[in-house]
Amino acid sequence: MDLSEYYGRRVLVDQPEWRQGKPAPSIETLPTMERHGQMIRCLRCGQETACRIAALPNNEFYCPHCINLGRVATLNKFYHVPEPNQFTVSSPVLTWTGQLSPLQEKAATTVDTGMAAHRHQLLWAVTGAGKTEMMFRGIAHALERRERLAVASPRVDVCLELYPRLQAAFQNTSMVLLHGRQELPYRYAQLTVCTTHQLLRFYHAFDNLIIDEVDAFPFAANDALLFASRQAVKETGGCLYLTATPGPALLRQVQHGKLAVSYLPLRYHGHLLPRIRLHLAPGWRRGLQHSHLPASLLNQLRRSLDAGYRFLLFVPHVTDLAVVGPILRTALLHHPFTTVHAADPDRLVKVQGMRDGKYDFLVTTTILERGVTFPEIDVFVLGADDPVFSSSALVQIAGRAGRALSRPTGTVGFWIGGQCRRVRSAVSQIDFMNRKGRTLKQ
Ligand SMILES: [Zn+2]
Repeated sequence: MDLSEYYGRRVLVDQPEWRQGKPAPSIETLPTMERHGQMIRCLRCGQETACRIAALPNNEFYCPHCINLGRVATLNKFYHVPEPNQFTVSSPVLTWTGQLSPLQEKAATTVDTGMAAHRHQLLWAVTGAGKTEMMFRGIAHALERRERLAVASPRVDVCLELYPRLQAAFQNTSMVLLHGRQELPYRYAQLTVCTTHQLLRFYHAFDNLIIDEVDAFPFAANDALLFASRQAVKETGGCLYLTATPGPALLRQVQHGKLAVSYLPLRYHGHLLPRIRLHLAPGWRRGLQHSHLPASLLNQLRRSLDAGYRFLLFVPHVTDLAVVGPILRTALLHHPFTTVHAADPDRLVKVQGMRDGKYDFLVTTTILERGVTFPEIDVFVLGADDPVFSSSALVQIAGRAGRALSRPTGTVGFWIGGQCRRVRSAVSQIDFMNRKGRTLKQ
């Protein structure tokens, strides 16, 4: 095995192998688990498990929490070589030639300064602000300093979208993409793009770590992944969290002064976010069972189409698609559309069809909430108060509207059965950023 495989990582080694002795003297051997009374703690994911649950024969133990990365047990050791930053920097580092708006410019400088100081910082930027381009300068300077960097996201689709953009922006930098669904072997590279889950394989590797869409499931709810991000960074390293919708955990860290925060409340085109309009429709679920949609919703859909705008209509569940589809087929005659959901085998074709203007609208579940952009659309949610929509998902959904300079506004309407905390929080997050944005525009 190439020694570089161990740089800044914790590579799991089986008992027979480590008993034979290390392949090189520079490799450190680290323990995998710690026992505290009746609890056993995994040193890869930081989670504790009761010994009776984690038990293996002969008084050995394993960790059930991170087992999908390969089983960590007391029978294993980790091999580790401290990160040597063994990179050659080839100029130019930044091969991106785009332009930032004055506001993006300001945020890019904040990010750059924070990364240079290895600060722990949060950039709260509205959906459609152009976050990725704002990281480029900070990343470029860090690469020039021969730092090892990672850009991680809780979501595979975000990683898949980021990787080619980063490759294009940093053509002379060694880069690797790591996620659970891929077969390609690991390779030592100066810039790693990976899912936050993959960070568990690293140990004090990165001088700066950027976590994009930090609010996205499952990161927000997962202590193991928060632990992973902390231990993947060098003790002196910095961390930049990027989000459009910081959850309560991050906001608490800001309040306690553990995390510096900067805001980007305006979109790249300088406009505010479209406000969410709420429509109370107490009996919508029952109505659906009798093939009725709220009249106010149907009227709104017709108004959008008559005005020449296309739209996305979100529903809570895949099963709702089968009911809403036929209703709209009758109610909105002559308007081509389709329904699509996460597990739909034709999902990519359908989304492309919407991009190509084949459809006037899509009826969908949460899957299109992030990363998908159609210009000039309106956005509606039927049953926004369903628990399937978190407040951050609702902010992301609302953020699909008004992204194009050709139509920086858009109608965003939520139909709800009753008042709900998640919906209120989404509305107030958007209002909060718009208040900040308005002061910048004055
Ligand atoms: Zn574990």
